[in-house]
Amino acid sequence: MTTSILEAFPDAGALAGAVRRGAVRAEAVAEATLAAIERLDPTVGAFLHVAVDHALAAARRTDRIVREGSDPGPLAGVPIALKDLFVTRGIPTTAGSRILAGYVPPYDGHAASALARAGATLVGKVTLDEFGMGSNGANSPVPAPRHPTSDDHWPGGSSSGSAAAVAFGLTPLALGTDTGGSVRWPASCAGIVGLKPTYGRISRHGMIAFASSLDQAGPMGRTVRCVAHLLAVLAGRDERDATSLDAPVGDYPAACEAPVAGRTVGVVRRALDAEGVHPAVRKTVADTVRALEARGAKAITLDLPSMDLWVPTYYVLACAEAASNLARYDGMRYGRRVEGRDLAETIARTRAQGFGPEVRRRLLVGTYVLRKDNVDAYYGAAMRARAAIAAELRGALDRCDVLALPVGPQPAVRRDAGADADDPLADYLRDVFTVAANLAGLPAIAVPAGHADEGGHRLPIGVQLVGRPLGEPDLFAFAAAVEREIGAGPPPLREATP
Ligand code: GLN
Repeated sequence: MTTSILEAFPDAGALAGAVRRGAVRAEAVAEATLAAIERLDPTVGAFLHVAVDHALAAARRTDRIVREGSDPGPLAGVPIALKDLFVTRGIPTTAGSRILAGYVPPYDGHAASALARAGATLVGKVTLDEFGMGSNGANSPVPAPRHPTSDDHWPGGSSSGSAAAVAFGLTPLALGTDTGGSVRWPASCAGIVGLKPTYGRISRHGMIAFASSLDQAGPMGRTVRCVAHLLAVLAGRDERDATSLDAPVGDYPAACEAPVAGRTVGVVRRALDAEGVHPAVRKTVADTVRALEARGAKAITLDLPSMDLWVPTYYVLACAEAASNLARYDGMRYGRRVEGRDLAETIARTRAQGFGPEVRRRLLVGTYVLRKDNVDAYYGAAMRARAAIAAELRGALDRCDVLALPVGPQPAVRRDAGADADDPLADYLRDVFTVAANLAGLPAIAVPAGHADEGGHRLPIGVQLVGRPLGEPDLFAFAAAVEREIGAGPPPLREATP
């Protein structure tokens, strides 16, 4: 087995195929992956917990099923890392928060159980901004992972460990979560592919809630096809999540081969003209459009006047829902407790010491906007704005198959300028192009399509494509066309190796 499984099998489907045929043993893949993590992760910093015994047991089970002549599942033997927001039975689950230190869940959530059914090998849990709140990976009790091509830049967040695990070749696949861009943004920074599916496409059962009406699990991989394979095993109705959609699951890997000739991409003018958009980001979107046109797609220009409302609407709603969801962390049921003189003081101390500064800030904002005297002016207004934003986006998607937008206005953020703690508002504003898909429940994918040269570093830049509800097959077709035509791809494994 080569150092990296990925060098031998760049496609997760091909790796699974080899394991299913018995040409490669899942256990050997797991051992090589665990060895690579042991060697490289001390400098990458993606993993919070490496589940060695769990991974080996899962791989041996897969091999046994193959030996017995049964079907081990479509992701047989493929190693995967989960953002530490996914509940995993017997494996510590912290949400990147001190408040859940010591919590070992008694059950598997949907992601862990669906992946086990598909034969994947869960190798561990990876780091994130606490409860998914952040964009750099910096809002965490542990240092953020490395950026794959620059030690001067943040890796992007909040699914920073998921992106780093894939970009550095530690695992072929990772799962993140995306409430307002947390899969697409770190994918863009790392030069990999990340998908935020249609709201309800993947069950949220066992996914620790940040803002329930916006949260979706998001597959991440080095290629569009890898992401398609992962979505295929996670999508579908789940009785344990009432918001999961009962819609047929498409043949997503096949969708990556569909032509885009004659189809339409809508370019959002306002997003390119907006103040503060980096020239390399503008060029990335322009190159994407040219690449799609070269494959026979048609481009139209359109405007989305609601853009100025996207960030304020998102932050009011995300904070309000977070304040409600995180009320459950009181030191009584999960994780850590800091004793006080009475119950109220115990709860107050537990929350004051358990949550980091950004989470506390958002809980204060959320509590404020939900106060009886404020709720209509803030929460109510944001709900009305959300409806208008969703209507506008759906209207735009009547005129085209996908929208093309930047992922973020700039390339990855410099470490010496932009730690969340220094200037939270600057970070919030950088979410401008990603939050709309969550507010409208639409699927959106980030695919590498350009780069910026900054301070001697080649920083990857992704383009964002937004589709109609359940339009994941369209996103795969367009993203695969961009991938083939531009070939920006992830950083080569050898270069990424620290
Ligand atoms: N950066 C956004 C935030 O901090 C998005 C986070 C996410 O998608 N989880 O809220």
